[in-house]
Amino acid sequence: MNVNQSAPPVPPFGQPQPVYAGYHQSSYGGQPGSTAPPTPYGAYNGPVPGYQQTLPPGVSRAPPSSEAPPASTAQAPCGQAAYGQFGQGDVQNGPSSTVQMQRFPGSQPFGSVPLAPVVSQPAVLQPYGPPPTSAQVTAQLAGMQISGAVAPALPPVGLGYGPPTSLASASGSFPNSGLYGSYPQGQAPPLSQAQGHLGAQPPQRSAPPQASSFTSPASGGPRMPSMTGPLLPGQGFGGPSVSQPNHVSSPPPQALPPGTQMTGPPGPPPPMHSSQQPGYQLQQNGSFGPARGPQPNYGGPYPGAPTFGSQPGPPQPLPPKRLDPDAIPSPIQVIEDDRNNRGSEPFVTGVRGQVPPLVTTNFLVKDQGNASPRYIRCTSYNIPCTSDMAKQAQVPLAAVIKPLARLPPEEASPYVVDHGESGPLRCNRCKAYMCPFMQFVEGGRRFQCCFCSCINDVPPQYFQHLDHTGKRVDAYDRPELSLGSYEFLATVDYCKNNKFPSPPAFIFMIDVSYNAIRSGLVRLLCEELKSLLDFLPREGGAEESEIRVGFVTYNKVLHFYNVKSSLAQPQMMVVSDVADMFVPLLDGFLVNVSESRAVITSLLDQIPEMFADTRETETVFAPVIQAGMEALKAAECAGKLFLFHTSLPIAEAPGKLKNRDDRKLINTDKEKTLFQPQTGAYQTLAKECVAQGCCVDLFLFPNQYVDVATLSVVPQLTGGSVYKYACFQVENDQERFLSDLRRDVQKLVGFDAVMRVRTSTGIRAVDFFGAFYMSNTTDVELAGLDGDKTVTVEFKHDDRLNEESGALLQCALLYTSCAGQRRLRIHNLALNCCTQLADLYRNCETDTLINYMAKFAYRGVLNSPVKTVRDTLITQCAQILACYRKNCASPSSAGQLILPECMKLLPVYLNCVLKSDVLQPGAEVTTDDRAYVRQLVTSMDVAETNVFFYPRLLPLTKSPIESATEPPAVRASEERLSNGDIYLLENGLNLFLWVGASVQQGVVQSLFSVSSFSQITSGLSVLPVLDNPLSKKVRGLIDSLRAQRSRYMKLIVVKQEDKLEMLFKHFLVEDKSLSGGASYVDFLCHMHKEIRQLLS
Ligand SMILES: [Zn+2]
Repeated sequence: MNVNQSAPPVPPFGQPQPVYAGYHQSSYGGQPGSTAPPTPYGAYNGPVPGYQQTLPPGVSRAPPSSEAPPASTAQAPCGQAAYGQFGQGDVQNGPSSTVQMQRFPGSQPFGSVPLAPVVSQPAVLQPYGPPPTSAQVTAQLAGMQISGAVAPALPPVGLGYGPPTSLASASGSFPNSGLYGSYPQGQAPPLSQAQGHLGAQPPQRSAPPQASSFTSPASGGPRMPSMTGPLLPGQGFGGPSVSQPNHVSSPPPQALPPGTQMTGPPGPPPPMHSSQQPGYQLQQNGSFGPARGPQPNYGGPYPGAPTFGSQPGPPQPLPPKRLDPDAIPSPIQVIEDDRNNRGSEPFVTGVRGQVPPLVTTNFLVKDQGNASPRYIRCTSYNIPCTSDMAKQAQVPLAAVIKPLARLPPEEASPYVVDHGESGPLRCNRCKAYMCPFMQFVEGGRRFQCCFCSCINDVPPQYFQHLDHTGKRVDAYDRPELSLGSYEFLATVDYCKNNKFPSPPAFIFMIDVSYNAIRSGLVRLLCEELKSLLDFLPREGGAEESEIRVGFVTYNKVLHFYNVKSSLAQPQMMVVSDVADMFVPLLDGFLVNVSESRAVITSLLDQIPEMFADTRETETVFAPVIQAGMEALKAAECAGKLFLFHTSLPIAEAPGKLKNRDDRKLINTDKEKTLFQPQTGAYQTLAKECVAQGCCVDLFLFPNQYVDVATLSVVPQLTGGSVYKYACFQVENDQERFLSDLRRDVQKLVGFDAVMRVRTSTGIRAVDFFGAFYMSNTTDVELAGLDGDKTVTVEFKHDDRLNEESGALLQCALLYTSCAGQRRLRIHNLALNCCTQLADLYRNCETDTLINYMAKFAYRGVLNSPVKTVRDTLITQCAQILACYRKNCASPSSAGQLILPECMKLLPVYLNCVLKSDVLQPGAEVTTDDRAYVRQLVTSMDVAETNVFFYPRLLPLTKSPIESATEPPAVRASEERLSNGDIYLLENGLNLFLWVGASVQQGVVQSLFSVSSFSQITSGLSVLPVLDNPLSKKVRGLIDSLRAQRSRYMKLIVVKQEDKLEMLFKHFLVEDKSLSGGASYVDFLCHMHKEIRQLLS
């Protein structure tokens, strides 16, 4: 059912809301308790303090007040390795950019994009070239028919989908769509763009599952025979995969002589045909002749050995050929195509089952009944009706949910709805909250629950008449009846102990042991806090934050400070009995910043001096968290602890740790122990913290192993964050640390939260990934949740689904806002259900699949050998693709690898996950680095995992300096680097500036203010501020990239052929890695082999 398809653009939530009483059931209730008066929440009449900001309907909002202040100045260069400097990516969907092409929501790019012989395509885009050659036409016609027949797959209800087109119409539209016919040679043309164009026109509905195919070398024989053969047969659509408009530099060796290509299968048919014709793509390899010369890399370490544990058979001598990298699906092209096709129009959520634009596309969202993709993204928007189908396809059904995601200024924060004393209206049986999918019946007197079908009475206060379509006449006046996302004010029944919460508190707990003092950390931090405390999170237009603050310092003992406003000087109280932690003072420990400003400032001035001469090197850790948690408990509030810690806590105390790092365990069955905490004490502590609503953010400054796997347990289970600054030195790292700290302290947080995901009959949430704690199988408990954190939920069938009714998800998050208000945030999402596998494969989102698979794998390493985890991923991916090949693709040569259009990047991205530091560490990666990354990825959203696993590589001098837009990226491969150019590479945590050895002297001068390449300082982390266009542009771009990410990325300048280049190359993920990770081409061949084995 298509909810709200015709919804008015903006519901005028302006009417006073009827209050009704007497109905209510809270699942989060507590015991009867106090009666703190609810704040006078202004219903949803006009602007209501939303979680993020207030926004009167129709009024554009100001940027969140919580934005971090601009980062300070640059730092001195640091030779420190990139490892350990990971930061977390941002949530936003990329830089703003305008896109020209429009694409219909939900539509996938065009049909089968065969990844084929791309190499030879001309650089010029010629969407409307001469018609295909006759031979081709025949093929195309054949294809068309087939696709027509197949047409069953209806895309989500269409907004503007044209009627199924016939061949005729298709050709009419694109008379000259012989895209492929006439390219002389050279770089591939931006076919994708052409496709984008076409894409919008042909009716998608008739399109059969789209596929990409190409012949892999491996295809020929049983094992890797194919390698010998010719490669890259041309395929049908020269789609996106083919074109590499962005390859500015170092074009790959030409496989085919110009002109050759054409001989084969001339180009791909126009989009329409393509659709069903995976096989169409002209298979046979023979036509194209060997694409490349012998490939040195290939033979050796076919990743097989280490990487593919599952690989049957001994490594074989490999034939010298390999796939042409330009002939395989390109992430860059797919990203560019989506930007071009879908970036210009808002994504309107009124239609069930629409696949949103990619996370890399900048787009606006209009909520018309389903949650924005900024809140929820799914692996598939069309779920198989039966569990058998789901098992056959092996496509995980999961949703990546970011309940408190920040929105761009152009989009409104969720409205806050007040149902009065009775609380939010819910289904009596399943407790689902009122939402646009509930069906009102009996003239509006009752409603049927869309989740469990229970018929409920409508409370008198909530009664409203229905219009002739059965919709309530006030539907568009009520967010909960017309929007995908909104908030309810919670009543006291939703509060702990039946008592409205007090405003939360922040406690800063500072390690003052020798290392912390010597590195300058303590002085830097205290100085920063003096100003940062003025920027604690506040809601709406509040002048002052409600959050109270407290301070603790520690080494082997803890020092509490009384900073009561009436004191002339702060008072210190020392607790040395760390085994039995207690809080020595209540009054004066947690204070309001403005009231106690003088005392706090005095304290922060004194702390660095008090410990300046310390010789104490030992620290405790668990007692510190315990103390903070006890302090919150005593104050009866939720809150957050900010811990600044430097070393392995070896002092005698609960939670004492020993150095158990052992790299010899890598690649053994005991490797998993490196990821497990060394004691259960921290889980126990975390559980207590969760019960108190005590979230822990940990800032680590280690000079050596500190056992991140253990220290991060509490932050992980309490919804907190971990930051790590290895070998911290003020001069090198202060900008990064302060930038992260400011952002972390200022961001809005929901405290003491519980999240529950309800589903309509037939599926249910069975598994959860993220930073939280669960004491039962359904409630996700989060001591804290901020706008950067996601919770990934996997679903399984427990009954048959229905195509007509689809499937519904409702995520409800109960939390306490920064101002102490108790609220429920609701997100609803309707998905389609299908009886044809093709529909599933047409509505998947690979970026989300990868997010899920990475989290699944990263959790798997806690219990299984890493190799087993990698094999499991490979097997699952092969099954997904084999199922498609078997059931959805048209028959074609076994030598062809055929990929569903929307999963054509699955192999390249999966390979990136497989060779990531957690699953296949290089020698330079420490155990702490791995544990750190592992827990970071657990909470990442889809945009973050996308760039984390496949970094962005931007050439800086290829596009005109005047160009205001970000330069188009190139593929992450050394082959794409030109030694006459300069590149930026970022993955959300790391940022490199790579300088080619032959870069023009003028460029070197403009950027670095030195006269030659040899004078550039390797490892530089700050570019000089020079007054010339190139310098301004590059520095501006760096700032822009940093602004897009949630953690500060420290710059590292890398010179070609320099030592540091090894570090940089680690991020060129399409290449073979030093740790044994396969190149993209090799992995694709391996996948093809796996698929063939499954099919045979
Ligand atoms: Zn129900």
